[in-house]
Amino acid sequence: MCAPAAPRQRIAMAQQKIKQQSRLLANGLRAEAKRACMRSTSHVLLCALAAVSTLAQSTLAQNTCANASKYFQPITNGDGQRYPLAIGPVVWHLLGSGIYPVQGSDGRIHLAFAMLFTNPWSAPTTIQSAEVVDPSQNNQPTGTNRVLSITNDDVSAAIRPLVSNPNGEKTAYSKKLAGGESGVMYFDVTYAKSSDVPCSIALRIHSLQPQVQRLPESTLLSAPLKLSSQTPIVIAPPFKGDGWVNANGCCLEVGPHRFVINAMNGSLDPSEGFAIDWIKVDREGKAFRTDGKKSEDWLCYGVDVLAVAPGTVVETIRDLPDEPPGAAPTSLKVSEIAGNHVLLDLGDGRYAMYAHLAPHSLTVHVGDHVKTGDKLGLLGNSGNTTGPHLHFQISNWPSTLDVTSLPFVIESMMLEGRVRLNLEEIDNDSIKGTALPLDKELAKQLTRAMPLSRDVVDFR
Ligand SMILES: [Zn+2]
Repeated sequence: MCAPAAPRQRIAMAQQKIKQQSRLLANGLRAEAKRACMRSTSHVLLCALAAVSTLAQSTLAQNTCANASKYFQPITNGDGQRYPLAIGPVVWHLLGSGIYPVQGSDGRIHLAFAMLFTNPWSAPTTIQSAEVVDPSQNNQPTGTNRVLSITNDDVSAAIRPLVSNPNGEKTAYSKKLAGGESGVMYFDVTYAKSSDVPCSIALRIHSLQPQVQRLPESTLLSAPLKLSSQTPIVIAPPFKGDGWVNANGCCLEVGPHRFVINAMNGSLDPSEGFAIDWIKVDREGKAFRTDGKKSEDWLCYGVDVLAVAPGTVVETIRDLPDEPPGAAPTSLKVSEIAGNHVLLDLGDGRYAMYAHLAPHSLTVHVGDHVKTGDKLGLLGNSGNTTGPHLHFQISNWPSTLDVTSLPFVIESMMLEGRVRLNLEEIDNDSIKGTALPLDKELAKQLTRAMPLSRDVVDFR
């Protein structure tokens, strides 16, 4: 699925990849370096893309992190161990290439990430609490961590077993891990201002396993995880116009993009954690003109898709057919999941992907250089999709699926409001043509913020 780069480019990319992985290991992260899949559950789709001005967003107080390193202070002055050791039936590690703070359209700084949990023992265990703590503040809890399911049920500190039914509802989560079982825990730790964001975080997990008589409960504290110092890329919007709905994005709600973490190329990755499925609605909140049974009936279909930043085209597919709206196709090859798409190299290890474009609509080819606002093609309904939309994402690697999704902020946009439905309802109602009710009390002009799930924004 990688871009058809020339040999020299491939070598350069491989060297870059090795550098990235070495950096992760040096940071103490158990490098899971890339991958993940774009997939959707019942409905919703994929999409992608962006453009940019590679400006670093300096809203985060990362510059204060250089001298903050002594997290595990000695607990004895003489003989003894430097920090408490504890045994327990739960192990965990970060999925993806890092934790990337980003300012959302709600004005808060979000740390949205996922951890893979495993119970390596034979007896079952139950997670009693999962605390995100600041190692530099004596491991006191930090931020506000709250995560909702696709139907807005609280699933904070719950685990989605890897073998669970992938419907995204609360029943897909559990506090229990059977012996040998693994699952994903999602986090959205938020802060009111950037100066509150710590340099590192750690997890403290309290678990119960009454069947283990010698250790019926345990409290485990992880080593510190340093937050990424990479600031979110600042991009221009991927199209113009009003009424663009983030129907499947980040961060509070774990919608299809965040929920699905697929096994790809021997690894697990949150490849769509910050991706957005964009659809367009009219002033009444309707996504199409009549019955929506034809792609052309949807308001977003055929809209010009624009480069969000200067970049180089590194991968394209252009001749797949549009799918009939209303149901996801069932016989796609993995290489067809993103449908017709454009992958842009934006520099600095960031790539923008626009998926599900209309057949034969691409106006660019591999090797082309584009500038912000250049037309790339037309929004369509090809690939793994149930209705016309643009799946847009920024990732750390020039591929569609085996990547880590990275956050981004849009230079300027008008927030019209937020849809008063959960993500599953938005998915169902947009397919049926039901008007999406909008809470307009949140309306405001935004600068350099990441659109959150359910946002309706205007790009002018
Ligand atoms: Zn999508």
